Formats: sequence, C-alpha cells, structure tokens
Amino acid sequence: MKTDNSAVTRETFDQVILPVYAPAQFIPVRGKGSRVWDQDGKEYIDFSGGIAVTALGHCHPALVAALKQQGETLWHTSNVFTNEPALRLARKLINATFADRVFFANSGGEANEAAFKLARHYAITRHSPYKTKIIAFHNAFHGRTLFTVTVGGQPKYSDGFGPKPADIVHVPFNDLAAVKAVMDDHTCAVVVEPIQGEGGITPATPEFLQGLRDLCDQHQALLVMDEVQCGMGRTGKLFTYMHYGVLPDILTTAKALGGGFPVSAMLTTEDIASVMKVGTHGTTYGGNPLACAVAEAALDVINQPAVLAGINERHERYVSALQAINDKYQVFTEVRGMGLLIGAELQPRFHGRAREFLHASAEHGLMILNAGPDVVRFAPSLVVEFEDIDQGMARFEQAVAQVIAAKP
Ligand SMILES: *Cc1c(COP(=O)(O)O)cnc(C)c1O
Repeated sequence: MKTDNSAVTRETFDQVILPVYAPAQFIPVRGKGSRVWDQDGKEYIDFSGGIAVTALGHCHPALVAALKQQGETLWHTSNVFTNEPALRLARKLINATFADRVFFANSGGEANEAAFKLARHYAITRHSPYKTKIIAFHNAFHGRTLFTVTVGGQPKYSDGFGPKPADIVHVPFNDLAAVKAVMDDHTCAVVVEPIQGEGGITPATPEFLQGLRDLCDQHQALLVMDEVQCGMGRTGKLFTYMHYGVLPDILTTAKALGGGFPVSAMLTTEDIASVMKVGTHGTTYGGNPLACAVAEAALDVINQPAVLAGINERHERYVSALQAINDKYQVFTEVRGMGLLIGAELQPRFHGRAREFLHASAEHGLMILNAGPDVVRFAPSLVVEFEDIDQGMARFEQAVAQVIAAKP
C-alpha cells in the first residue's frame, strides 16, 4: 500500500489530478462570507463566487444549519424512495415559477442533458420521429457531456471525441433572422441562455427572446432556457426570464441552487412532463435529501424581496466602481450584464489577456473570473457586503495598474 502523509501543495495538483484545469497558484482552505483564506493565511475577497455558485457567500449560517441538520438525519435514499426535502424544494420551485414539474440532478450539464432528452422525446412522442432538430447558438455553453457540449457553441469543446449527436445547428446569438433561416417544422427545440455566461456575459435582447418564443410557437418547438448560471437570483429576479416576460417550456438551473452543494433542477410544464414514463430517464443521486435540504435553505434566503432588491443595488456599486477605474485607465470597451453577473470587455490592446487580470488580482488579494479571453467577469455572493465591494474594487484597481505597468 502506498502511503504519503506529507502536506498537499499546488505541485501535488500537477501530479495527481487529470490535467484539464490550470488552477491558481494558491490553495483556498477556509471561507466566511465574501472572504477566503489560503494555506499561508493570506486573505482574499471573493468576487468569483465559485463561478456563480456560492450565491450566499461562504459558510452562510442558514446553509450550514440546513447541512448539519440534514447531515444528522438522512443523507441519501436513491429514487427508489422519495424524500421530504426534495418534495418541499420541488413545491417551492413550482410555486415561484412557470413550472408544474421538477426533475433533480447533480450538475448543470446533467440538468441540460435531461432537458434536451425531454425536448426530443416530447417532439417524437407528440409529433413525428423526424422532429429532432435542435437550434442553439455560437459561444453558448451548456455543459460537458457529449450531448450538452455538442449543443454548446464552441467546437473546441466538442471536437476530438468521435461521432457527435446529430441534428444540432448553431446560429449567431441575438440574430433572429439567422434563427428564422434554419427554423422549420422538424425543429424540436431552441436552446438559449438568457445571458450567455461563459460566452462573455452577453444578455439576450428583449426582441430576440420574444422572437424565439414566437418562432417556437409557430413551429411547435420548445423553448429551453439554460439558467444554470443566470438563475437563482443572480440577475436580481429569481430567474432571468422574469425580466423579459418571456416564458420558457423547459428551464434548467444549477450553479447557485445549492449555494455550493452540488444539485441541479430541470423545470417544465405538466403537458411536457407527461410524455415521460417510469424509467424513461433517471439518476442515482439526483434529488437526494442532503442536497435538497441545502438548496431549500438557499432558495428560502434568496427568494425574498429585500435580498433580490439588494442585488440590483450591488450591481450599481460594481458598475460605478468599474466605470471609475475605466475613466482612469481606459481598459474596458464595455461593462455589461445584469444583477451580479457582470462582464467588463477589455480594450482591443488587452485582448487575449483576461487571465493576466485574474493573476494580478490574486496577488492583490482578490478572486475574480474571466469569461473567454477578452472579458473579466464578476459573479460574487448575492449578499456581498458593500464594504467588501469597495475594498475588493480598490484591490482590482491595483491589479489593473499592475497589468498596465507590466505591458501597457
Ligand atoms: C456552468 C454551466 C453549465 C454546466 O454546469 P456543470 O455544473 O458544470 O455541469 C451549463 N450551462 C451554463 C449556462 C453554465 O454556465
């Protein structure tokens, strides 16, 4: 037996983990609210939120209490048995949205896999075996299973894995004419992120989302909204479709749903759900009591008028700080996004260099994200303290100055 009790370090990563990530040089070991500490005790302000996941910051008392309580009660039963936390969470999601039925899974990719299978199965069952076309968008991101990565709009993620699921077409985002050109009665679904997240924090225009709804209705296709990143309060309403007044047929949510505990959900209507029978789809872990108890606590906190209103106030604070930095340093062409999903697009002279801003920020004690090579992304806790925003933005300004000084 191999034993190794020496301490783990960043070098250990390069020896033991599949080399699909390039993590930061420091290792976070503890978090509280929007502050994180690394192995050396250095403190960071967290504007990355675990990629829009830790929506209530680190170790929020309500989530810790739910986790502890359920952790001492019942962890897992499988879907051979149902459980109270899953039923309560499903009821709350239904009461808060367009939906009548919920399917729980463990990740965004799995929720989308379920959504795409459901859309296809509905069209095949109700209409025709040939109604299988899925329309999706350039730069979209829907997960890493072979189906979801193929519906995603970045071929670099789906190439090199052999034959892909067929009958999926991609057109430019926010281009309704391009959708019209490929839409027909063989289309089973249009899949869209109301705000493209990984693709660069690009909100759909109201005309585009409404136009997709109309086209889907004309061709008996389903409108699938991927709110894995932009859902659960992230944009200042519980779900982003609520800003637009355009209803989806199927909606997926994940990242913030468990506030850091892995859980995801697919929501849909009674009519669409009714094509699924016992055994048509499933998962071992999905909807387990531990995950659902934490998610229920997260939903209870986030879905309150005062918390949602606070997200919009925090948005203003971020945007004005970013504009002040931009007035001084001229680094961004645009600051965009909604609520606490904010993207700052870099000036052409900084294109390809977003990760330099991440590294410099980490040196100054700030965790941020990029969204592609040209956009700096902020996805902090939805209840981040204003003082943390101000201090974090002061650190970000130092990082910007450092990047410019290194290579103007
Ligand atoms: C992160 C993300 C996914 C994938 O979620 P995983 O939990 O990584 O599988 C899917 N869609 C969108 C919009 C995302 O941002």
